[in-house]
Amino acid sequence: MSPDTYDVLVLGGGVAGCVLAARLSEDPGRTVCLVEAGPDHGPDPAGWPAPLLDARALPREGMWERKVAVHRFRARVVGGSSCVNGCWNTWGSEADHREWVRAGGERWSSAAMEPYRAAAVDAMGLRAVPDRELSPWARAAVDAARELGHNEADMGRTGAPGYGFPLLNAHDGTRWNAALAYLGADVRARRNLTVLPHAVADRLLVRGDRVDGVVVHADGSPRTLRADRYVVAAGAFGSPALLLRSGVGPADELRALGIAPVADLPGVGANLSDQPGVFIPLAPAAELDAALAAKERDGELYVSRVLLRTASEHAPEDGWDLHVLPSAGPPLFGSLPPGRYEAGVSAFLMKPVSRGSVRLTSADPLAPLALDPGFLTDPEGRDLAVLRSGLETALRLAQAPALKALASLPGDTAPHLLGDDELRARTGTYWHPVGTCAMGPADDPAAVVDGGGRVHGLANLTVADASVLPTVPAANTQLPVLATAELLAAALIAGPGARPEAPATKERPA
Ligand SMILES: Cc1cc2nc3c(=O)[nH]c(=O)nc-3n(C[C@H](O)[C@H](O)[C@H](O)COP(=O)(O)OP(=O)(O)OC[C@H]3O[C@@H](n4cnc5c(N)ncnc54)[C@H](O)[C@@H]3O)c2cc1C
Repeated sequence: MSPDTYDVLVLGGGVAGCVLAARLSEDPGRTVCLVEAGPDHGPDPAGWPAPLLDARALPREGMWERKVAVHRFRARVVGGSSCVNGCWNTWGSEADHREWVRAGGERWSSAAMEPYRAAAVDAMGLRAVPDRELSPWARAAVDAARELGHNEADMGRTGAPGYGFPLLNAHDGTRWNAALAYLGADVRARRNLTVLPHAVADRLLVRGDRVDGVVVHADGSPRTLRADRYVVAAGAFGSPALLLRSGVGPADELRALGIAPVADLPGVGANLSDQPGVFIPLAPAAELDAALAAKERDGELYVSRVLLRTASEHAPEDGWDLHVLPSAGPPLFGSLPPGRYEAGVSAFLMKPVSRGSVRLTSADPLAPLALDPGFLTDPEGRDLAVLRSGLETALRLAQAPALKALASLPGDTAPHLLGDDELRARTGTYWHPVGTCAMGPADDPAAVVDGGGRVHGLANLTVADASVLPTVPAANTQLPVLATAELLAAALIAGPGARPEAPATKERPA
């Protein structure tokens, strides 16, 4: 074999890519190369830039683009967006699994996915929020939720609406990302695993119904890598972009960009689904500022550690469609004088029906993508209605006695009564894009992959990351994506038609 030929090439070394590289290389007889556009900081936290490890804040480095709209944020580093994210891990509802089963078959049911969820919880070392990480605002939010009659819910599993705590991939203030968790020194010591950083996958070379190579720009020079199987894991923005540059996508659009279509799959880059949200800012009382300052001095100030799952009238009977998030601390963006903090409650739309898109602006792999999140654009206005319902709940929470004692609502317009344009202008994102290479049956023109992640019409090409989920779960997406990658790695190992075997791991007690 030439040094540039492998059994499996994993293209994109983010959350899913790390899982795939680790699982697929467990068999010493299978050679695996993980190709990542960004740097590789290695298995020892001591070699990592401090901001990527600090779980108290969201870093702005290690990103694809700087100074862009927040909905474009995505990391470019081995470990992917787990190196820049909020370290929250939650799970969706039974209703989410029903949507996925319709698209990909029984292996996507909550029961069938459970071993992969548990394997991901175990491998990432996910743990419960330690009591000392709860700020006075988070504690008051728990009291406020109880005052309003909400029950406690286990956020790491399907279940019921209620308040509760995420599982964290943060250990004593250190963000424990997917690279540290899945690509430790023991895994990197495998002779059959190559990690290739600073290598941008430009395009797949397709001949007939097979991929015959991938052109990567490694440290700036083009190079062709070959494998029996190609697994695309470049994230909800990067994966459709790579397929589009390869001629896999809507044929007319590709021709217009001068790219020769090789597989007409209109779903590539369509169906972008992300969770928009609106923050209700409150004016912290002096007592809250002082208490937050004390937490900050102790190095234990975490902006958000508690959430409320709630259901609008549009939610399925056994599900929820909103996350209501109390937060307090230094502003996410911008700054305040020392000793002053931002406090508030956000409402996030977890099951949007609006859809956006990922499109190329050119065939150049480094050109910025045309990303339209499509937030709150559904013609019936259902997303706006659900968001208003969430803002009403957020306001009720903020005005329950426990929180009202610590912060007040400035102004006199209740946020849910704001006009559509004002709400749109205030909309941010929860950073959970999915759906741009959605799974579905071969006779569905919008489907890109089957339930095993195999691209329709191309024999040796798989997509295995956030982009295959046809609908966003009513959850933060990291844990669902980890479980998706665990499931699809097992399916690849088993081969088509065979029964995959889940990794033999036991969930650690939270
Ligand atoms: C700011 C932010 C905060 C978030 N907070 C949370 C949170 O608290 N909880 C939660 O559950 N989720 C959170 N998320 C979402 C979560 O991180 C994602 O769901 C998850 O990372 C998706 O995994 P992925 O493997 O699909 O993509 P990613 O992790 O984004 O990985 C994709 C990788 O592919 C690489 N890549 C892309 N194109 C190419 C190419 N052409 N060639 C080579 N490599 C390429 C990228 O550099 C990247 O490393 C957050 C995301 C962001 C951006």
